Amino acid sequence: MKIVDNVKEIRNIVKEWKADGLTVGLVPTMGYLHEGHKSLIDRAVAENDRVVVSDFVNPMQFGPKEDLATYPRDLEMDSALCEAAGAHIIFHPEPDEMYHDDFSSFVDMNTLTSGLCGKTRPIHFRGVCTVLAKLFNIVQPDKAYFGQKDAQQLAVVTHMVNDLNFNLEIIGCPIIREKDGLAKSSRNTYLSVEERQAALVLSKSLKNGKALIESGETNAKKVIKSIYDEISAEPLAKIDYVEIVSWPTLEEVDTIDSDILCAIAVYIGKVRLIDNFIIKK
Ligand code: AMP
Repeated sequence: MKIVDNVKEIRNIVKEWKADGLTVGLVPTMGYLHEGHKSLIDRAVAENDRVVVSDFVNPMQFGPKEDLATYPRDLEMDSALCEAAGAHIIFHPEPDEMYHDDFSSFVDMNTLTSGLCGKTRPIHFRGVCTVLAKLFNIVQPDKAYFGQKDAQQLAVVTHMVNDLNFNLEIIGCPIIREKDGLAKSSRNTYLSVEERQAALVLSKSLKNGKALIESGETNAKKVIKSIYDEISAEPLAKIDYVEIVSWPTLEEVDTIDSDILCAIAVYIGKVRLIDNFIIKK
């Protein structure tokens, strides 16, 4: 496995792969890889001849008050995980390789990005769409892999690829959790022991909300309230949002009678965590 830090080199490698008729899978990440990322890499390795894992903490998707500077980074650990999983390249550019001084073009979206995480993180999805468009152009993958953990991102990127005719398939992958239910996340490392325990309220409240729907409840407001109340009872938790929206169109829903996404964002202390479930009717 090779670590590549510049666009020219990765383009040349991919060109040779394509000339040999090999298929290419891309797994975009911000590094500090865990088993959630690994599940994406495993699937990409199973479905493609060559796999590129991008490992780039994209400054453009962080707001001014967010955790860009402190976001955990460990290229050595990431390399070991990628190598063991059978990936062929880690693409690990410095920010100035991706964004030259005169960079001034962006990809943005009118729909899908205004609600859910887009409310609290207004510039986030412009940064996500822009970096993914760049990665798709650089790596030219046949398939790109995304976790349902970031469900809004999965919906946004699928829509973007369709709108802009990128010649690739987006593959959504299930959420990988710790044994006790907490969704794996690079940001879990920020949690103190006490906060780690409190963070269980996310997955627990979602599990109960999901059970409510499965037992026949179709009133979205009632399900939202039950999740909201359960999280509110945890002293270390502060809710950003609890929402039920249509999947994958992310529109407000009153009655649960077709595919839905139930998504939450909750601060545990200063750490903002997200989790969700999708129900297909
Ligand atoms: P990140 O490094 O947080 O930007 O995540 C890179 C990719 O890994 C995204 O497509 C995420 O949705 C996915 N991912 C992160 N955590 C998990 C998880 N616990 N289960 C499945 N996919 C995940």
